[in-house]
Amino acid sequence: MRCPFCGEQDTKVIDSRLVAEGDQVRRRRQCQACDERFTTFESAELVMPKLIKSDGTRVPFDEEKLRAGIQRALEKRPVSVEDIEASINRIMARVRATGEREVRSLLVGEMVMDELRKLDQVAYVRFASVYRQFQDIDEFRQEIDRIRHDKRSNDAQLDILAEEITDNVAEGSKH
Ligand SMILES: [Zn+2]
Repeated sequence: MRCPFCGEQDTKVIDSRLVAEGDQVRRRRQCQACDERFTTFESAELVMPKLIKSDGTRVPFDEEKLRAGIQRALEKRPVSVEDIEASINRIMARVRATGEREVRSLLVGEMVMDELRKLDQVAYVRFASVYRQFQDIDEFRQEIDRIRHDKRSNDAQLDILAEEITDNVAEGSKH
């Protein structure tokens, strides 16, 4: 964003927040050359940062892909469309609120895990097993134990899931 005072290209975002019910992003910027500060209002649609994938390539943020990933994790789980959409909106708002032009896709993955953890524990582990590359099987077991001991979840599927994931990790670690 060009500085309106001196024309310098390089300005820094010092504060970023959603306004107008999330439709706009209000940003305080500071010019790196003359130190003047100014405010911009940007359409939230236009300011979704690009994603930096683990191999370093940049791709546009794809809401449909995000939705598909979440739906895959929630397949056959008792979660309403409204709750899924609310989660997607919260993730998009958090991504926008970073104020960055590019964010690591890993960060978005962590946000998805935060949301899934609240929505459905089975879906959370399902997603985490694919997304987060757990260092070893022990880390997975700890996660599953944590969920199992969580009083709110009493799901027989967790046992099946635990097996499934342990197999996947064992499989993955061979590569
Ligand atoms: Zn300036």
